[in-house]
Order: sequence, then C-alpha cells, then structure tokens
Amino acid sequence: MSEAFIELRNIGKRFSGVHALDDVSLTINKGEIHCLAGENGSGKSTLIKVIAGVYQPDAGEILIDGKTVRHLTPIESVRHAIQVIYQDFSLFGNLTVAENLALNTALRAKRKTVNWRAVHALAREALDRLGVEIDLTAELETLPTSGKQLVAIARALMSDARLIIMDEPTTALTGKEVETLFRIVRDIQARGIAVLFVSHKMREMLDISERLTVIRNGRKVVEGPTSDFDEGAVIRHMTGQDIVAE
Ligand code: ADP
Ligand code: MG
Repeated sequence: MSEAFIELRNIGKRFSGVHALDDVSLTINKGEIHCLAGENGSGKSTLIKVIAGVYQPDAGEILIDGKTVRHLTPIESVRHAIQVIYQDFSLFGNLTVAENLALNTALRAKRKTVNWRAVHALAREALDRLGVEIDLTAELETLPTSGKQLVAIARALMSDARLIIMDEPTTALTGKEVETLFRIVRDIQARGIAVLFVSHKMREMLDISERLTVIRNGRKVVEGPTSDFDEGAVIRHMTGQDIVAE
C-alpha cells in the first residue's frame, strides 16, 4: 500500500493572460520515482514552483503527509524536506564545490563561523555516496554541466530530503551521463526518497519512472503506472495527436 507524501488537488495558476495550470491534481507517493511529462510550455516548471512554494496557486489545495498546507512558502517547502534541482542548478559559479555544498548546511546551523574541516568531510561524504569523483576545491564554474548537476544532487541529499524534484535533468547530458544519473536516481529511491523526474523525452521517462503524469496546455491528461504506457501512448497524451508510424 503506497502512501502519499504530497498531494496537489485541483491546482490553478494564471499569469496575466496565460492559464499556466488549470485544475491539475498530482499525488507523489513516499519513495516513488514519478515522472511529470509534457511538451515545452505545458506547465511543468510552473507546477514544480508551486510545490517549491515559489508560486502561490490561485486555486486548489496542497497536502503534505495528509495535512493541508495553507500557504506554502519556499522556506516551508524546504522544511517539509522538498528539494528542487532547477534547470540552472542554482549554484554559485565563483565558489568551490565544497563551498557550494557547505552553504545550506552552514545557513541551517545559524553559526557565524564555518568549520571548514567538518564542511569538507560532509561534502566529501555526500559526493562519495553518489559514487562520483569531483574535486572539492575546484571552482564550480570550471566543472562540466554533468559535474554541476552532481553537486546540486549532492547538496539536495545533504539536506535530508524526502522529495527531490529534477527539472529536465538530462537536457545537457550525454548518453553515458544519463546512465550515471539514472543509477543515482535509483540509489536515491533505495534510500526511501521520492523523486519527481520532469521530462519531455519519451524513452527516458519510460525507463526511469514507476508512475507517470502527463500534462498538456496546463491540464492533466493522464496519470498511472508507467508500465501501462508505451511511447506512442505518451506522445498521444502529450501532443493530443495520433502519430501514425510510417
Ligand atoms: P514547461 O516547464 O512545461 O515548459 P512552464 O511551466 O515553464 O512550462 O510554462 C507554462 C506556461 O506558462 C507557458 O505558456 C509559459 O509561457 C507561461 N509562464 C511560465 N512562467 C511564467 C511567468 N513567470 N510569467 C508569465 N508566463 C509564464
Ligand atoms: Mg520547464
């Protein structure tokens, strides 16, 4: 019996003139890999920002652990152990890998001084857990995109997340890097952490997720076990059109 971590009920969000989300409901269960699929402009990033407390929805309800959350702010979202890895990673290019990893922990500790030995040890441990070799003293901007992404994932793991959201994480990755990412996503799940994997790429969403929600033009079209779908079905749901194979 799977249990819901977060439930979005009938969420609506308008920007002047654009109905970005219209009556969208989504349940993410504890410890599942859930894919949110949709074409560009379908409302995926807007939905993520609602979960992250960055946007206040105009309509609908959010429940976490079965309890209604009245006004979800970014701080509250983090307190509920939700971590978002945005497409730009939100890291600091001119800080080192260790400094990037330390920042959240140091802010949470509310101390005025930073114990760099402890910070390096924690950062090392976070990267080791991912099974990747990254120089902690390298300036972040010297890393390739895949390296920056791993730092962002390590940072999310250091914060004891219960849900990690990845917005189009494979956009700039090579095939080999996608394999590494998938291994890490499965490791994350093995620790009981849920992952919301946001994508518009057919093959990878079918490969990685257990459940799939498709949105189109800001509306949810379907939600179900990934094994119920094939590529053709997902394309039809995403585009609303029948694609006839040649
Ligand atoms: P996706 O991530 O699926 O590509 P988005 O959530 O970014 O889609 O966008 C959904 C729709 O909402 C698009 O039409 C987009 O132009 C619009 N939109 C998103 N954010 C804003 C914003 N801050 N202001 C105005 N329109 C926005
Ligand atoms: Mg987006």
